Amino acid sequence: MKGVALFGVPGAGKGTQSQLLIKKYDYIYIATGDMLRKEIKEQTPLGKVADEVISKGELLGDDIIIKMIAKRLDNHTEGTFLFDGFPRTIAQAHALEQLLIDRGGELMLFIKLELSLEESMTRLLHRAKTSGRSDDNRKIIELRFKEYQHKTAPVSDYFKEKGLYHSVKGLGTVDAVFGELCTIIDNR
Ligand code: AMP
Repeated sequence: MKGVALFGVPGAGKGTQSQLLIKKYDYIYIATGDMLRKEIKEQTPLGKVADEVISKGELLGDDIIIKMIAKRLDNHTEGTFLFDGFPRTIAQAHALEQLLIDRGGELMLFIKLELSLEESMTRLLHRAKTSGRSDDNRKIIELRFKEYQHKTAPVSDYFKEKGLYHSVKGLGTVDAVFGELCTIIDNR
């Protein structure tokens, strides 16, 4: 059981690139934001908590997220997982490594899609026109950026120290970014 983590600011292109990667490499896709939005739609107890936290632009608690991931991993006995939007804190980074080790696997790659906050804001405001997401508006996006800078950005340094870190400039065309991601993965 192996893992690849796709990392980056909101709007960096993680979702778009993930769709291409899971097709090409047959990865099992785990996107925490999508999982939470499904819980919200189904109005589960977790969904109710998630709705409140997400609409404020904050991050959910590590325990909730880690439990959700563990449950999801246990649906499979083998394969390579592609993580989108996880880990978002140092505690989640530790947990991800441990969850994979406990299942006889490891995190293979941590890839950051690099995008400036200015460009991210432009993209998210554009996405807001069609996404229907409660958190795609300027005020909440700014709060999401704050969470990102305080809690999430340090995760990339953590994986730099582990030697798993790679980065790709997220500003190119979808195809160009995908090509660079594939090169990193194929060279691993
Ligand atoms: P995303 O779709 O990845 O942009 O996630 C949307 C929102 O879901 C985030 O702004 C957080 O409120 C919540 N969320 C998603 N993934 C995580 C995570 N790994 N840890 C904490 N909160 C998360």
